[in-house]
This record gives sequence, C-alpha cells and structure tokens, in this order.
Amino acid sequence: MIKRTFKDIAKWVNGDVVEGDISSVEAVGVSTDTRTIQRGNLYIPIVGENFNGHDFVSTAIDNGAAGALWQRNQPNPPAHIPLIYVEDTLLALQDLAKSYMASLSTKVVGITGSNGKTTTKDMVTSVLATMYKVQKTEGNYNNHIGLPLTILRLEGDTEIAVLEMGMSGRGEIELLSSIAKPDAAIITNIGESHLQDLGSREAISEAKFEITAGLRESGMLIIDGDEPLLTEKVVNSPYQVTTVGRSKESDYYPMQIKQKSEGTYFTIDGEGEFFIPVLGKHNIHNALSAIALAKTLAVSNANIRKGLEMMKITGMRTELLEGKAGVRVINDAYNASPTSMRAGIELLQDLQGYKKKIVVLGDMLELGEKEESFHYDVGKGIDKEKIDYVITFGALGRKIADGAKENFSIERVHAFNDKQALIETLKRIVEEGDIVLVKGSRGMKLEEVVDALAK
Ligand code: ATP
Ligand code: MG
Repeated sequence: MIKRTFKDIAKWVNGDVVEGDISSVEAVGVSTDTRTIQRGNLYIPIVGENFNGHDFVSTAIDNGAAGALWQRNQPNPPAHIPLIYVEDTLLALQDLAKSYMASLSTKVVGITGSNGKTTTKDMVTSVLATMYKVQKTEGNYNNHIGLPLTILRLEGDTEIAVLEMGMSGRGEIELLSSIAKPDAAIITNIGESHLQDLGSREAISEAKFEITAGLRESGMLIIDGDEPLLTEKVVNSPYQVTTVGRSKESDYYPMQIKQKSEGTYFTIDGEGEFFIPVLGKHNIHNALSAIALAKTLAVSNANIRKGLEMMKITGMRTELLEGKAGVRVINDAYNASPTSMRAGIELLQDLQGYKKKIVVLGDMLELGEKEESFHYDVGKGIDKEKIDYVITFGALGRKIADGAKENFSIERVHAFNDKQALIETLKRIVEEGDIVLVKGSRGMKLEEVVDALAK
C-alpha cells in the first residue's frame, strides 16, 4: 500500500501543501470513502453527481485520516487540517496511482473485454499465485476511480498486479491503460454491452483495443481469436499476440470438452487435460487466456492445473447452486448481454443428466435501438430439443418469449411482468431433478428468483 510523505504526494499530484510544516508527515494508503477510511490514510474527496467528498473532509480526519487533498475551486476549506491543494482531485487520484505504479517493479496484467473480465481476472490470479505474489482488483473496482484505488493498494513486494479495466465509453480504457502501463493485456471478447452509447460493435472493439495505449512495446496481447474485429487489428502489430478461441484457427483452443456438475474438463493439444470448477464454454475461453498468459510467465502445467482447480468465482457469475427439493439452480443473475445470454443458454443445453431444463431470462438493458430484435433472436436461438421451458421477465424479456415461440409450443413459454407471479409459476413447474438457469441484466434483480428456489 502506498506510504509516502505529504511532500512526495504533493509533488506527484502537482499540488501545494498547506497548514504548517506537515511535509514530512506520512500518509499510508488512500481512501475516497470516510465510512471505510483507515488510520493514516490520505483522504481524497471526489466531486460526484450526488455527493461532494469535500463535505466529509472533517469526518475523514475524525475517522483517522492523516490529511486530505482539496480541490482549489471548492469553497471553505477547513482550518487546521493537513491539506494538499490540487486543481482536480480525481485527476490527482489518477496521477498519484500512475506515479506510484511507475515507482514499483510490479508487473501488470490488464484485462478488458465485454464479458468475462472479472472471471478471467480471478482465473489469472489463481494460476499466477501458485508461483508469484499476486494482487488483483477486488470485486468490480475497474473504473477511473476503482483502478487507481486498486493500484494504490498494491504492496511494495507484489510481483504481479492483475487489473480489471471496465468502461462505459470511448477513451476510458485508454486512460486506465496509461495509468497502469500493462506488461500484458487480455481482451476477452467483443459483445454488445454499451452498444447504446457506442453505436456499433466496431466502435466497441476500438474502445476495448485502447488497452494497448499503455501496453509496453513487445508486451503480450491475448485476444479472442474468434472475433474478426480483434484479429484484424493485430496484423503487423508490435505486440506478442496470442489468440484463444474455439477452433484450430486460434493458438489455444479446447478439445474433448466434458461438462459435469462439479465443473468443466477440457484438453489442449499437446498439453493434456485441465479442469475448472465452473460451468460453460465461455469459462473455458476465460481459462484459455489465463493458461496462455501463465505459460509466458514460466508457470508449469502442474501449477496451472492447481491454480485453475482452486479458483473461486466472484458471486452470481454462472454459479451452480443446490436448490430446495433436489432442484439445481445456475445463478447467472449478475448481468446479461446477448453474448453472455447465449453462452448461458448454450451451457444449459449442453448439461446432461437432468429431468427438465428451464431458463428464466430477464431484460438485457442498454442495447440501443435494436434491443427488441436482440431479445427476439436470443429466444429464437433456444433449442427446443434441449430446453423444456422458457420463462421470461420484463418488457424486453417478453420479446425473448416471442422469439422462443417460433419453435416451442406455447405451453412451454411463459412471459411475466410480475416477479412474484413468475416465482409462483416456476415453483409449480419445477420438481426434483430439474435445473434452472436464471439470467438477466443487473437492474432486473433476478437473484430474487434464485433466492426463491435456493435452500
Ligand atoms: P462487468 O462488465 O460487469 O465487470 P465482466 O466482464 O467482469 O462484467 P464477469 O463478471 O466475469 O464479466 O461475468 C459476467 C457474466 O458474463 C457471467 O455471468 C457470464 O454469464 C458471462 N461471461 C463470462 N465470461 C464470458 C465469455 N468469455 N463470453 C461470454 N460470456 C461470458
Ligand atoms: Mg467485472
């Protein structure tokens, strides 16, 4: 965790220290939140949409902060508090993280993509931790505030930092990459999330490719080999490119896939069998990126196997749960986009040994003007031979039901706007030996359906 004198910090953030001679006082760690602040932290007040952190500077000091940054245009700075004045506290946070990162010898792995960032981060970390001291982004701290905070939490002797980089528009990944300066970068895939803001998949791919902005020359770049929007960008690239995908076209691809309830087995040509304690081909894809990266860092296959076996998935991401009365539930309620929805449905289609297979699918939000056809197509794509019931929630979810009705008989498709009514119907349909996939956008809160089925 960053430990620096106020004088050094002021230099890094281009600020001025005020309030007596405190330049030799040290701050240990930074915080933007007075509720979780720890003794000795530097408090960084951020001006947000709903709150202005400057209103809480005194609270931060009462809660143990060593001092704070202060944005020059903010009125009434408190007296008798060690402050460093800066033009913009958010930029200062980012500058501080950038300088701190540059002062460490820690290697950086940056991970972006439309789906699977957090899961890939968890896999990469688990595999590399068999040989190195690794720190990773906690939870989903992957944006212009979360990433700097993650960096400032790095301990001086950490050998590898695994950083998730998220975005909601152009320029954001570029910013994060230029702060973190990755030695290796992974772009998991290109989906449809943020289509509403960015307009096209091409624009999304360009935004993700911004991760190369800070990538060291000849650094490692791992991309989705099945995505032409990415493979076309790496022709003659200065990076060490590795592709992972579904077929021989990619450097890494899986063979002999076995989907069991405890997880997924697959082999890699010439490397033998691997096991991941998570479900779905999409998670094989995430694991392949982790394997490709680990190999360049001299991690043995034995350690890669151990790391993958031990990985812990972050909650609500394709999580297989034991439900009530012998019913199994796949909790994938964390989020949804057409790509990840199809991945979840494909997983359920592939699973064997269950009496009935039921999908509960909610709205996929923020897809822009073609949102209805995206939903319709997802429904139309569901295989009626492999899935027994399609149950949808929400206004857009209804379009999934409409699409499903092209192939399914109507008594096997139910659309709801009322979650309680959905739960009642679902409870009438499920019986011992069934499996239910629950997936929708975050705003749909489909974990309430999972809770109703869970033990
Ligand atoms: P966020 O943008 O919210 O941070 P993320 O990119 O970190 O998401 P994860 O949290 O790892 O993604 O996974 C979210 C969901 O995306 C999973 O529950 C799963 O449904 C789906 N998913 C994960 N990996 C892939 C993949 N490689 N391809 C398609 N879908 C995937
Ligand atoms: Mg994430």
